Amino acid sequence: MPESVALAAAVQAGRWAAAACRAVRSAADPSALDKSDKSPVTVADFAAQALVCRALAEAFPNDPVVGEEDAAALRSGEQAKFASQVLDAVNLAGRQFDLPAATLDDVLGWIDRGGAEGGGRFWTVDPIDGTKGFLRGGQYAVAIALIENGVPTVGVLACPNLPRNGGDDAGDTGALFAARRGDGATVRSLGTNSTPTAIFTSPQADPAAARVCESVESGHTAHGAAAEIAARLGVSAEPLRLDSQAKYAEVARGGAEIYLRLPTRPGYVERIWDHAAGVAVIEEAGGRVTDVDGRPLDFTHGRGLERNRGVIATNGPLHDAVLEAAAAVLAPRP
Ligand code: AMP
Ligand code: MG
Repeated sequence: MPESVALAAAVQAGRWAAAACRAVRSAADPSALDKSDKSPVTVADFAAQALVCRALAEAFPNDPVVGEEDAAALRSGEQAKFASQVLDAVNLAGRQFDLPAATLDDVLGWIDRGGAEGGGRFWTVDPIDGTKGFLRGGQYAVAIALIENGVPTVGVLACPNLPRNGGDDAGDTGALFAARRGDGATVRSLGTNSTPTAIFTSPQADPAAARVCESVESGHTAHGAAAEIAARLGVSAEPLRLDSQAKYAEVARGGAEIYLRLPTRPGYVERIWDHAAGVAVIEEAGGRVTDVDGRPLDFTHGRGLERNRGVIATNGPLHDAVLEAAAAVLAPRP
């Protein structure tokens, strides 16, 4: 089946942005600067958001984009050197795809396109999900999703450091996961001419045989509670820890059965761009996603999943068993 215009645009956006991330990574030392929330943000976050917004603007000039970054920090005079590094990364990646050279104004304009508020139909973008993984040479993902009336209908996860496990270009690390509602989920290489291969979640229905994945960062998920849930399920394998929505991708392609994201503190609201693309990919591969209380993720409340608490994603067959174990371990919803 030919890919929809929306999916093709998101795939192209993911490829362009992944190339910028790789270009920055292969430069000597990815410079980090602190955002107000103290999470590290790099030249690559801005370059990747610029390229994603550029690709989406070409296909859908009127679609709003809700992105994680905004260009204000780059406009201050003090950041001139940083801004020029972002411009260089955009053009370095652009040359790989024969894109015309961009100016700094172009780049700031693209990044600004990511400042929309959402609506009935909008895109949401995490230019580098798992920035900490990116900085330490681990997993990270460019995450792009189209949300229509609260439903993630298109999702792309470009994972430059994730082994692809076979397929064409098997020697090249890096995998791009893509899904469109109703059409299934696929994996392909990050190369321009790669062919998508369908992916499916694991059919495992025995909780004891499940493999669990979770964040590396103990601030992003409660590792202790996850171990208790795993013990209740009789899981013996050690958890697979990886940064970013690569966790959704692993479950979607059958590399794990369960992804637990358990609240570390009351009041943290999950960001839509940390989940929308992963939800589209995993559900189309046969999996299920809810919050820890079994509620569907609610993408109709702006930039946050205001109505949800944590996230549980599974292969599908194990979902109810995991929710039951979570209910026994976690304090009831306040
Ligand atoms: P991960 O790589 O799965 O650990 O998740 C990275 C994402 O965690 C970032 O994009 C942040 O938006 C998000 N994050 C930041 N603080 C928290 C928190 N306290 N709980 C859950 N997620 C968080
Ligand atoms: Mg993120």
